[in-house]
Amino acid sequence: MENDSVVTDAETCCLCMACTTVCPKHARILPPPLQEKMQQMLGVLKSVRRENEYFV
Ligand code: SF4
Repeated sequence: MENDSVVTDAETCCLCMACTTVCPKHARILPPPLQEKMQQMLGVLKSVRRENEYFV
């Protein structure tokens, strides 16, 4: 946060959206319609556990 605004480092942000679920201050959120759409599209993957992989 800077001056009550959310600031993102565009050089390092990969748009994973993890911050929308893990930030305890809810600094960044997705609009509810988009949350619902993403839940519909990605919800089935919550139960899938895969190990991290490196891609070259
Ligand atoms: S959690 Fe993901 S979307 Fe959020 S700032 Fe970090 S890289 Fe970007």
